[in-house]
Amino acid sequence: MTKENMEFKTEVKQLLDLMIHSLYSHKDVFLRELISNASDAIDKARYEALTESSIMESEKEWKIKLTANKEAGTLTVTDNGIGMTKDEITKALGTIAHSGTKEFLAALQSREVKDNPELIGQFGVGFYSSFMVADKVTVITRKAGSGDKKAVKWESSADGFFTVEDVEKEKKGTDVVLHLKEDEKKYIEEWEIRSVIRKYSDYIEHPIVMDVEKEQDSALKKGEKVRIKEEETLNSRKAIWLKDKADISEEEYKEFYKHVSHDFTDPAKIIHYKAEGTSEFVALLYVPSNMPFDIYYKDYKMGPTLYVKRVQIMDHCEQLIPRYLRFVKGVVDSSDLPLNVSREMLQSNRQVDIINKSVTKKVLDTLAEMKKNEYEKYLSFYKEFGRILKEGIHFDFSRKEAISDLLLFQSMNKPADTYIPLQEYVDSMKEGQTEIYYITGASYDEAKNSPYLEAFKEKGYDVLIMLDEVDDFIATGLEYKGKKFKSAIKGEINLDKSKEAEKEETKKKFNALIELIKDQLKDEVKDVRLSGRLKDTACCLVGDEMDMDPQMEKLLKSMGQNVPQNKRILEINPGHPIFEAMNKLFEKGQKSVVLEGYIKLLYDQALLLEGSKPKDPAAFANAVTRLMVKDVEKAAG
Ligand code: ADP
Repeated sequence: MTKENMEFKTEVKQLLDLMIHSLYSHKDVFLRELISNASDAIDKARYEALTESSIMESEKEWKIKLTANKEAGTLTVTDNGIGMTKDEITKALGTIAHSGTKEFLAALQSREVKDNPELIGQFGVGFYSSFMVADKVTVITRKAGSGDKKAVKWESSADGFFTVEDVEKEKKGTDVVLHLKEDEKKYIEEWEIRSVIRKYSDYIEHPIVMDVEKEQDSALKKGEKVRIKEEETLNSRKAIWLKDKADISEEEYKEFYKHVSHDFTDPAKIIHYKAEGTSEFVALLYVPSNMPFDIYYKDYKMGPTLYVKRVQIMDHCEQLIPRYLRFVKGVVDSSDLPLNVSREMLQSNRQVDIINKSVTKKVLDTLAEMKKNEYEKYLSFYKEFGRILKEGIHFDFSRKEAISDLLLFQSMNKPADTYIPLQEYVDSMKEGQTEIYYITGASYDEAKNSPYLEAFKEKGYDVLIMLDEVDDFIATGLEYKGKKFKSAIKGEINLDKSKEAEKEETKKKFNALIELIKDQLKDEVKDVRLSGRLKDTACCLVGDEMDMDPQMEKLLKSMGQNVPQNKRILEINPGHPIFEAMNKLFEKGQKSVVLEGYIKLLYDQALLLEGSKPKDPAAFANAVTRLMVKDVEKAAG
C-alpha cells in the first residue's frame, strides 16, 4: 500500500511545537522516555507471553538495543517487545491526545512555566520529547505474535503531519530512529549515551545494549591488537528496591523517584522496607513534595507499580493503597502473588489486602514521624496534600485516630500562617469547654471576623478555622480524644450553661415579638430564636446541625449540581438595643408598618453577613438611606 499522509491532533501539534522550540536544558530525558516506552513494551509482551507462548516468536531473551550511526547521523532505540499495529500506532502517536495533554499544555502556557522551562520535566513528556533532539523521527514496528512480517513505518518531521506505510520487519517489536538535529549530534557518541543511561535508566530491568568497539590481542599475529565490535550491556539492571538500603545513595533514590513519578522536584520522604512473615514483599515508596498536576483529574492513575518477583505486572496498582494516599508513588515487589495475576484477582486477594494494610500503616507512621521531627517540612507537605489525606477520616474508619493526629488547622486565636494540630487545640481548651469548635469559610480573614464567633471570643475559647470545602463533611461526626466537633455556624450555641433561669426570663420577654417575626418571615426562614452566639451583632442566619455547610453548598453549585434550597434559621441577639427598642414599640402598638420595615431590614442584613445577597438589593439600599437621612437630619438639628 502507498504512503498515507495524516494530520496530528491539534493538542499533539501544539505539544510538538513546544518540544521543537523547547528551552528545556535537560534534553537528554528524551532517551529516558524512549527507553521507558521500550521497557513497557517488553513488559507487556512478557506478561502476554505467560499465557500465549507464540508472543515470544523465536527469541529467547528480552532486550533494548541502541544503535548509533555516525554517517547517517541517527540514533536508534530498538526493542523486541509487544510492537504496534497500524491502527495502534496511528492513534498512539498521532490522532489521540493523551489524557492530560490539554491540561499539560495549559500549564506550559502559564507564565510560571514559560519563565522556567525546567518545569517541563515535571510532566511525563513521553515519545514526543524525541523532537527536542531530532528533526525527523522514523518508527518501524511489528506486533508480536502476528505470524507474518507485515509491519508499519511511521514518520514525521513534526510539521503537523505524519505518514504511515506498510513495510516488512523481520523481528517483532519497535525501532525508533532519531535523525538528530545538527547541534544534537553528541547523542551519537558512545560516552554520551553511556552517561545518559547511567543517569536515568540504570535500574531498568531489561538489558540496554550497544555495540562497542574494543581492542583485542590478534589471534593471527602475536603482539598485535585488533579492533572488534562487541555487544555490551550499559545498565546495571539492578532493581534499586532490591538493593540494601546502605548501598543506595540519596541521589539514586531521587533519580528513581523521578523515573516513577515524572516529577522534576525531589520527594519529601522516601520509604523503603522489606516485609516478611505472612506476606513477603519489598516496597519503595515516595511522598512527593509537590502536587502532581493531574491528581484531581478523573483518570489520574494512582497506586505504586506492582512487580511480582521483579516482573512488572502493572504500572499503577490502585489496590495497593487507599485513595486518600493516592499521592504516594513508587513500587511494590511481591514474592507471594502469582505471575499471571489479573486485575480481577487483585480486587479480592488476601496478599494484596495485607500489602495494602502494611503500606498504609507505614505511610501514616512516616507522616506522623515527619510531623514530629520535621515540622516545617510536614507543614509544607500538608498544605499540598492535606485536603486529600483528610478523606481518610471519612473512608478509613479503622485509622480515624491516626489520621486525626495528622490534621492541622488554622485557628481564630492564631495568625493566618500558624497551623495547629488537634492535640494542641484540646490541650488549650478552657475550663468548662466541652466541644471542639470550628468555623468554615472562604478565607481566614472572613472566618476570623465573622459575627458568629462573638460569644466564643468573649469566652476566650479558640475556634478552628476550616477552609477546605470538605472540612465540614469530615468534622461532622468526628471525635477527638472524646471531644465532639461543633460548627460555630450551625445548630444552637450555648456557652453559658449556668444561666438557664435568666435565659428563660429573656425568652418570655421576647416571645411575642419572635412570633411576629416568624410570621412575617415564614416564607424565608424555618425558625426564629434567641441567639447564644451573638454579642455585638443584632442577628444572623444559621443552619440546623445536620444542614449542608454553606462552603459545600457553594462547591456543589459551582459544579452545576442541583442543591435543594434549605431554609435557614434566624437568630436574634436579645442583648442588642435594637430588639429592646422594637419590643417596646411592639408592646405599645402591636403590629406596625415601622416594625415590619425593620424586620425586613434586619433579615437582609443577616443575609449579607452570611455572604448572600438581599432578595431586593435596591429596596434594601433605599431603606438604609432613609434611615441615614433621618439620622443626618437629627444631627443637623
Ligand atoms: P506514554 O508512554 O506516557 O503513554 P508516549 O507518548 O511516550 O506516552 O507513548 C504513547 C503510546 O505509544 C504508549 O502508551 C504506547 O502505547 C505506544 N508506544 C510508544 N513507544 C512504544 C514502543 N516502543 N513499543 C510499543 N508501543 C509504544
